[in-house]
This record gives sequence, structure tokens and C-alpha cells, in this order.
Amino acid sequence: MRDLSAGPRVLLKRLRELMAEPLEPQERLDRIVRQIAQNMVAEVCSVYVLRSDGVLELYATEGLNKTAVHLAQLKMGQGLVGTIAASARPLNLSDAQAHPAFTYLPETGEEIYHSFLGVPILRTGRALGVLVVQNKAMRNYREDEVEALETTAMVLAEMVATGELKKITKPGLELDLSRPVSIDGNSYGEGIGLGYVVLHEPRIVVTNLLNEDTDQELQRLAEALGSLRISIDDMLSRREVSMEGEHRAVLETYRMFAHDRGWVRKLEEAIRNGLTAEAAVERVQSETKARMIRLTDPYLRERMHDFDDLANRLLRQLSGYGAKLSASDFPTDAVVVARAMGAAELLDYPRENVRGLVLEEGAVTSHVVIVARAMGIPVVGQAAGAVALAENRDAVIIDGDDAKVHLRPLADLQRAYEEKVRFRARRQAQFRALRDVEPLTKDGKRITLQMNAGLLVDLPHLNEAGAEGIGLFRTELQFMIASTMPKAEEQEAFYRSVLKQTGGKPVTFRTLDIGGDKVVPYFRAAEEENPALGWRAIRLSLDRPGLLRTQLRAMLRAAAGLELKLMLPMVTEVSELKEARELLQKEIERQSKLGEQLPRKLQFGAMLEVPALLWQLDELMSEVDFVSVGSNDLFQFAMAVDRGNARVSDRFDVLGRPFLRILRDIVRGGERHQTPVTLCGEMASKPLSAMALLGLGYRSVSMSPTAVGPIKAMLLALDATKLGEVLNAALDDTRDQTPVRQILIDFAAANGIPV
Ligand code: PEP
Ligand code: MG
Repeated sequence: MRDLSAGPRVLLKRLRELMAEPLEPQERLDRIVRQIAQNMVAEVCSVYVLRSDGVLELYATEGLNKTAVHLAQLKMGQGLVGTIAASARPLNLSDAQAHPAFTYLPETGEEIYHSFLGVPILRTGRALGVLVVQNKAMRNYREDEVEALETTAMVLAEMVATGELKKITKPGLELDLSRPVSIDGNSYGEGIGLGYVVLHEPRIVVTNLLNEDTDQELQRLAEALGSLRISIDDMLSRREVSMEGEHRAVLETYRMFAHDRGWVRKLEEAIRNGLTAEAAVERVQSETKARMIRLTDPYLRERMHDFDDLANRLLRQLSGYGAKLSASDFPTDAVVVARAMGAAELLDYPRENVRGLVLEEGAVTSHVVIVARAMGIPVVGQAAGAVALAENRDAVIIDGDDAKVHLRPLADLQRAYEEKVRFRARRQAQFRALRDVEPLTKDGKRITLQMNAGLLVDLPHLNEAGAEGIGLFRTELQFMIASTMPKAEEQEAFYRSVLKQTGGKPVTFRTLDIGGDKVVPYFRAAEEENPALGWRAIRLSLDRPGLLRTQLRAMLRAAAGLELKLMLPMVTEVSELKEARELLQKEIERQSKLGEQLPRKLQFGAMLEVPALLWQLDELMSEVDFVSVGSNDLFQFAMAVDRGNARVSDRFDVLGRPFLRILRDIVRGGERHQTPVTLCGEMASKPLSAMALLGLGYRSVSMSPTAVGPIKAMLLALDATKLGEVLNAALDDTRDQTPVRQILIDFAAANGIPV
């Protein structure tokens, strides 16, 4: 009996020799197809290469009319070849012309051939072309022949990817590998970044494709699989994943896959066909990826992703290295592209070089997204296929304003974006020039401009932006990006460094605001039907006083001898504040008893985010030292609009009459009791809505760091008293239906206010 694996092995050996010879690319390609045809006893062997205009062009053939080379073309999806490229799947037909997709190309003279076997030329899941063999007789190609042709296609993929074929590409045309691609995603961080791709998990480039000794390669694969399984078991038994949680679920899936017989069998088969263990993993991975890109079922896609990750790990085991870009190779303007990544991993990159982050997954609440926003870089998430489509060092534009990623952009687009970036840089320079200008309105009202923060990476923005302090420090972020609950000492050390780095500027620490959309993985409460209205923020803190007391103690100790401002989130009833204050009092007494130094001054505040407080304004204002309006949540609850649901957000307006009247009541409540009122929601970050706030009487706002410049430019040109008159008239008039937004826009335009 014929040794089925001998054929492909001999072929691969020949191909390796051909690859090593100093030949011109066309000559090499011609010889390759001849070799394949001979070896597979096929009358025809042809290679089609995908161009960037979506056309598959015949690049070489043995058996078809030679004059058709570089002339015969099929569009992606057209004919059998186009179908194979579009589906990234082989086609094995005994009577090709009977297939509904068959398209007759007269120039090739292929009408006399009946049987047809075509396989995609794949690289990281993308079809770069198609390799075809044909015979006159009607026959079905055997499984091992399909397998052999797929393996051979890898050699061609390498030729395309190394750019060798560019020399024989018609002038003015490009191969698909360098095709510009635009990907739509979700914007998780605004801004525009221009730079070069850095793949977070770089592909191991397998250069040694063909094996010398099958048994030895099978052995290497078995060993690598063994260590992979052990490393997964190891991770699973570590303390931090030993409880329930997503991380554990992912690892469990990995473990299951690492033992998957079908997967292992495919890998072994590829080695028996002559590949090295690495090349076998890449082959199987490429097929998996090709299927993954086309899957629409999110669950299945997710599982395929797990296989893909696992294959990457296996490749790293086999090659013994991670192939991360070395520091000297790291571009000075890097756009990091990843499927998903941990927050700590992003912080490992040289911060000043990172211009943006592209994620295939991710959500606004992902830790890495929180960190990236704090770093002030644009982030686009849910960018489908980004990792497979990008190559290290590809030019890339990330547009966080428009939620788009442009890979290998054409010159026009690149120029347009460069212009945008230059324009922004000019504006930034103008804002920087205002940094030390006192924030006084035209009518002499002194406005306090502070910024929001939550991580240490935020803090350099304080001086850059010229903010007077931190009006909202979201302490939950430290908890959200940690894999275990931060210990008391860690919390204290963290607050201490915040106070140190802010160098005496005031910081308003908000106590833990977890629950709802702020998920802390190791603190899993039961699933809630309606988490926004559930067990969260101060409710959770009062039910778990140990948690709150630990945090208050950490704050008191970190602020020893300094000024401490703290506030509580999501207060619904004033009695909750009294309860929290008692806990604070206990901690203060404890500190005094221990003889520890206390803060020099302490201010106790509340966030106004729940509408119920509107009918307790007088009690509230006399209970606290200050109030901070959380307009994001207040709006959500007052208008019954989920703050994270884009489908409803457009229908309700923060500048509508009802919400502005609420905000006016609050500021008037503060005035009655001389209790300072500030506002720290997103509303303060946009010039038009911030202008409205000043018109209503707000004199202190806290915003994202990038907003400080634009808001200052706005207020310097504003007569707040005059706006107040216009705005109050609009809010008092119950018959006027002109949208207040329009009234504000007109006011800004008439008075030359930049909004
Ligand atoms: C708010 O709700 O407006 C607010 C500032 O708090 P967060 O966005 O953290 O919920
Ligand atoms: Mg809130």
C-alpha cells in the first residue's frame, strides 16, 4: 500500500529546495505549480493571488493557457476560485462545470477539465489567494490530497506575505495584504491617534515550515501540549482564580480545549504531512481563524477565540519565546492592537509612545479601557477582525471620535487626518496658553475648574490641564482594576501617593461606588434584575460597614496633617449620610485613641444623584459641608434613561427644561444654606452644557482633564449674569417651546462664545 504521507512529504521537500534557489519570482512560481501538478498527478495546477481591489488574478499555471497568466481574473465571490477565497474553505468537485458558481473563462482553456480541487491560501485566517489543481477525468480528490494541497498553500502564503510577488504585480495595483481596511467599532475613548500597529500578542512567525523528522516533531508537539496543559492547571490552582468568575471560566475552557482530541488529531496529521510542529499549529490555527471571522454567533465566535488564544500559547511553548517587540523596535507612535488585554499590560508599555488602543472586544467597563481613558488615549473597542487584519508596523489611524480604525490608510485619508491632528494641536496650544489665566467670566465671576480622576495615571493631567484640584476621585477604579480586594495598607498607600502627587491641590475622594455597571470581579453579589437600582454604592457600604470603615481609615491615615475631602455616592436619604458620618466618627476616635495624627481639616460631602434628594434639599444642605451633583446618574434617574443605552440617549436632553430646572433648584438650595455646590458629571465637560451651568449659578465644576482648556476658553468670553437672565426667562416661561439648547447656541453665537 502506498504511504499516504510520502507524497506530500516529497512535495514539500521539493518546494523547500525551490524556495531556496535564487530564482526570479515568476520563475519560482512557475516551477512551484509544475512541481505540484507532477506530484499530485494533476493536469492543471494554478495559483490565483488576491489584489487589493478584490480581484483574484491568475499568477501562474501549469496546464492552462500560459497566455492567460496575469490576464485571467475573477472577483472575490465570483466563480469557484472567488467562492473559495470568499469562504476561505476548500472546494472538491468531480464535475466543476456542474457547480452553480462555475464561471467560464475562455482565455484559460479549462473547459476540458472536469475535476477540480481548490484551497485558500491562508495567512492568519485571511485568504490571500487560491491554489487549484484540475484533472480531465471526473474524480473526487481524497482527503489526504486536500490536506496536502492545503499544506502546500502555506508555502505560497509565505511567498505572498514576504512581498516577493510584488515584483510581478502590475504597476498601479497592490496585493491584498497591503489593502487598506476600515473597521467600525465602539468608541470607548475620544481622540485621534496616528501611528503604527503594535500587536499586543505578536504572531510567532513560523519560518521553518517543513520537518526533517516526523517522529521528532510529533514528540515536540506532545511535549509542548503537555507543558501547556500543566501551565493551565497551574493557573487554575492559583489563589486568585480559585473562586468563581470569568477568568476561571475561560481557563476551564482552555483546559477542555487543550485536551480536545479533534484538535490534537488535526495537529498530528499536519505534522505527518511534513510540517514542523510550529507550522502545524499555524496551519490549524489559520483555518480556525478563517472560520472565526465568518461566524456570526457570538457564543461560537468566543469559543473559536479561545482556540485561537490556545494556539498562540502553544506556538509560544514550541518556539520558546514571546517575540514581543524589543524596546528599541517599539515605535514612538504606537497603536496597540489586541483582542483583549489586562489593564496592567497596557501600563507596561512605554506610556509616552502609545497613541491609541484598538480592541476586538472590550466594553466601557473593561479595566483596560478605564486605564486607557485615564491615560487620555483614544480607544476603539469591538473592532471585529482587527488582530487578524493588522500586521506589526502597519500604518494605522485610530479615530476615537468616530469609532473607526483605518488600517494601511490611503494617502488622501492619511493627509485628511494629519490635518485634523494639526488643527487639534493648534487648539491644544491655544488652550495651554490659557492654563495660568485666572478663570474669571467677563462679568467677574470666579469659577473653580477641577478635574475628575481615579488612577495614578490620571494625575499628570492635573498640571498639564491647569485644573485647580480633583473634584471627583473615583476610588472604585483601584478596586476595579485589581484582581483581588486591595488591602487596607494598599488603599492607604494609594491615597497617600495621590495626595503627594497632587502637591497640595484639593482632592475630593469619593468612597467606593461599586455595584451597578461598576463591576468588581472578586466581589460578586447575586445577579440583580435591575442593577442600576440595586445594591450599590452607599447602600452596599452601609450594609458592609467593614468595607467602608477600612476605606475611611485608609483615607484618614493617608491625609494625616493634610486636608481631607470625602463624599458619598448615590445617597437617597439624608439618614444614610448620618449613618456614614457615625462610621467616620468612630474611625476618627479610633485614630485619636491610637495617638495617630488626624487630617488638619475634614470636609464631608454628598453626591446628589438620586432625585429623592430633591425633596430633602434643606436637610441635605445643612447636613453636609458640600454637595456634588452627579449629573450622569441624576439624569438617568430623573429622566428614566439608561445612561449606557445609546438607543434612548438621543431622545432626552440634559439641556431640556425639566433637567435644567432640577439643576437650578439644587444650586438655589445650596445658596439658601451657603453650602457649596459643584457638579462633576459629563455635563461639565462640554462647553455648551457647562455654559448653561454657569448661567444657572454654578460656580464650581469638575470635568475630564481634556475639557479644562475648552471650558476655560468658553467662560472667559461669557457674561454669566446676562446668560442667567436669558436662561431663567426661558425656564420660567411655561408657554415658550423653543428648545433651550437652541437658545443657548444662539446666545453663544451672538456673544462670540466658543462652544
Ligand atoms: C455621575 O453619576 O454623574 C458621576 C459623576 O458619577 P459616575 O459617573 O462615576 O457614576
Ligand atoms: Mg454616579
